[in-house]
Amino acid sequence: MAVKHKLMILPGDGIGPEVTAEVKKLTGWLESNSDISFEIEEDEIGGAAIDKYGVPLSDETLKKCADMGTILMGAVGGPKWDDIDYNIRPEAGLLKLRKELDLFANLRPAIVFDALIDASTLKPEIVKGLDILIVRELTGGVYFGEPRGIEDIGNGERRGFNTQVYTTPEIRRVGCVAFELARKRGNKIHSCEKANVMESGKLWREEITKLHQEHYSDVELIHMYADNCAMQLLRNPSQFDVIVTDNLFGDILSDEAAMLTGSLGMLPSASLGGDDKGLYEPVHGSAPDIAGQGKANPLATILSFAMALRYSFERSDLADRVEHAAQDVLTQELRTADIMAVGCTEISTNAMGDAVIGALDKAIAEAA
Ligand code: NAD
Repeated sequence: MAVKHKLMILPGDGIGPEVTAEVKKLTGWLESNSDISFEIEEDEIGGAAIDKYGVPLSDETLKKCADMGTILMGAVGGPKWDDIDYNIRPEAGLLKLRKELDLFANLRPAIVFDALIDASTLKPEIVKGLDILIVRELTGGVYFGEPRGIEDIGNGERRGFNTQVYTTPEIRRVGCVAFELARKRGNKIHSCEKANVMESGKLWREEITKLHQEHYSDVELIHMYADNCAMQLLRNPSQFDVIVTDNLFGDILSDEAAMLTGSLGMLPSASLGGDDKGLYEPVHGSAPDIAGQGKANPLATILSFAMALRYSFERSDLADRVEHAAQDVLTQELRTADIMAVGCTEISTNAMGDAVIGALDKAIAEAA
């Protein structure tokens, strides 16, 4: 009998329910057309959870997420909840989920699909075939380091301060994730920090070097200062395979790399933790300006689900099929409004989900 893979779906707000609905279609198709099967549960997060439970992530929902282990989220937030206290705003639900599940490694692929090559602001010859994976440390560094605050220093003047801090285990565990992923891809890692001016960067470089020597000497390791990496991403992005970096630099470099691809509605992400926990979500927000209109591009969420198939369910075969189907749809010149181009056909969220399933059907028919 097929193993049932547990999947928790948190649709969230705005376009979240629309884009996650397309993933539910896909799980149904996979169950009918492959040997995988799912046990799916669904609950609220963000504004929808505030409306239903009074908090952006209830303890009960959090427990369910921890038990299920693999979570697919839509997006949170929207104008309806903008004036709520900072600590119980929709985004606080997502931050709580990441923290409580100790999701320390954030994976952000930046892939340029041939059919969307003109969506990038860089020249096609620079971005053609681009496939970069940024692994960002997500639970440490300057965003969490203590002491932090704003203090009065007299004479009507103030001082704002944060602490950049990393420990050996924090660096090693995210390093291991990145090296393991590199082995399954192009076998090359760029480790980025500012070892020239920061002690935490010096430690980062030393620990990554040690980890490399001890366990991963088969992987090519290149150390690069984060500011140089920002420059190289625009100058010659195809030199990169996997980039591993800290929370602050990863925040900036992953957004920069994402924009090489040119379209927010296409960008998936995964956040991995210990005990095989994984949270999969599109990079985009809840897009309240287009919510409920059938205009949202579901591909970022579908590609996030493909990452869940690859990293949580260890079904790279099925992940490949879903990713190829998404590419096939783009090659057929079917587009949601956000990626519409001259000569293409504009379709709705629902039709895009159906088109991905149509492409999966076509691939089966061609293989038969
Ligand atoms: P956004 O990503 O929601 O939207 C930015 C622009 O991109 C909008 O014009 C939107 O229509 C468009 N867009 C986004 N996703 C799209 C998709 N799948 N298909 C087509 N078009 C898409 O960012 P924003 O407008 O700054 O934020 C809106 C709300 O989302 C805010 O409440 C914000 O806090 C929240 N937010 C949530 C997350 C998250 O849940 N991880 C991330 C970012 C923003």
